[in-house]
Parts: sequence; structure tokens; C-alpha cells
Amino acid sequence: MTNSTTKRRAPARRVTAAPETGDRHTDPDRNCPLCPRLVDFRQSIRAREPNWFNAPVPSFGDNDAALLVVGLAPGLQGANRTGRPFTGDYAGDLLYATLLDFGFARGNYEARPDDGLTLIDCRISNAVRCVPPQNKPLPAEIHLCRQFLIATLTTMPRLRAIVALGRVAHDSTVKALGLRAAAAPFSHGAIHQAGNIRLYDSYHCSRYNTNTRVLTPAMFQSVFARVRADLG
Ligand code: SF4
Repeated sequence: MTNSTTKRRAPARRVTAAPETGDRHTDPDRNCPLCPRLVDFRQSIRAREPNWFNAPVPSFGDNDAALLVVGLAPGLQGANRTGRPFTGDYAGDLLYATLLDFGFARGNYEARPDDGLTLIDCRISNAVRCVPPQNKPLPAEIHLCRQFLIATLTTMPRLRAIVALGRVAHDSTVKALGLRAAAAPFSHGAIHQAGNIRLYDSYHCSRYNTNTRVLTPAMFQSVFARVRADLG
């Protein structure tokens, strides 16, 4: 495990869009127009699957949480279908099981947004709020959606820990925190300090990463064990 201590470089920018759904201070409008490619993709899926959520996925959990988990983007048949981050596809199975194990959630995860699962002192969001084709957002889309990540961070008064799932989430969070990228490189298990907030890196809990053993459940659990130990 590596540790780095860096100073925050610049104050976070403010959100510029006017959200109408979810948390109106931090969540984009259901018809956010900022990324034309993702808007086209969203429209095509709405036409094909009119009963799916098919919109920017709001954060899950209270804004007074101490822990924020940042993922990449909604999965097509996961959060994009159900409307709750990491809900309905494989990545959610490992994430929610781990949050339950370490006391960051209570209830039962049943892969649907009305399963009654509650987060405890934890919130979950994504670096990019709309589902991208092939799970691959473009740099411009990551940049545009960062305003909502920044707004999420700046409206969490008790925020002390961020777990970034994968390099894209890490890089966008580093920028959102105003850290120098060179001083906070991504590495599984790394910890970076940004003022009184700690950023913990993990490989993304995707099916591909777990099937290829890039990320094992034990490796994932070790990240949250450290967060739990630090938060108390
Ligand atoms: S990815 Fe973010 S910025 Fe782009 S359209 Fe969706 S909500 Fe708007």
C-alpha cells in the first residue's frame, strides 16, 4: 500500500446546470443536454426500453455521510436500468456485499432500487452520470460531468473518505479535489490526502476485473477495511 500527502491546489468549481431530479443541488437534470453523444445514446435506449430509468443516475445515500464511493458510470443494464448506482449488474453484488460487511449499509441487497437497502454514513455516485456506449466515456464527457461530482463533494459537510473505483473515477476525483495528478497517481490500495479528506484507490469491482482476478474480493475488502479503521 502506498500513501501520498498532497495539498489541494484549487477550490472546487460550482455546478452550472440546474438539476430538477434527485438532489437538486448536486444531480443533473433528467434530460441533461451537455454530452451530445450520450444524449443520443440515452434517446436510443429510451426508444428501445421505455420502462428503464434511462437518465443521469442520482447519487445514492445521504449527503451528511463521511464516505463517498465514486464509480465510473452507470452500467447499461444496471444503474441505467434501475436508477440506483451499482444496482442490477454484477459490480453491485461485490460492492454492496462489501459495504454490508463493513457496516456501511444495512438490509439486504436484492439488485433492485426498492429492496430496502440503506447506506450508513456512506454515499455512492459516479464520475459520469449517464451510461456511455461500451462503458467508455470520452474525456470531454468526463470533464463535463465533473461539475456534478464537484457539487456532490462540496455539499457533503462531513466528508472524510472517498473510495475511487478505477482509474477514471480516481482521475476525475483528483481533479475535483484540486490535487495535482502527478502527486496522486492511481494504484490499487493507494491513499492520497487532500486536506482533511482521504482518497482511497481500488480497482473497479467489474465482472471483468473479478473474473480475471485483477481484483479479488479480498483485495476489495482490504480497501474498505482500511476506510473503516480510519473512520472508526
Ligand atoms: S454525462 Fe453528465 S454532463 Fe454529460 S449529459 Fe450526462 S449528466 Fe450531463
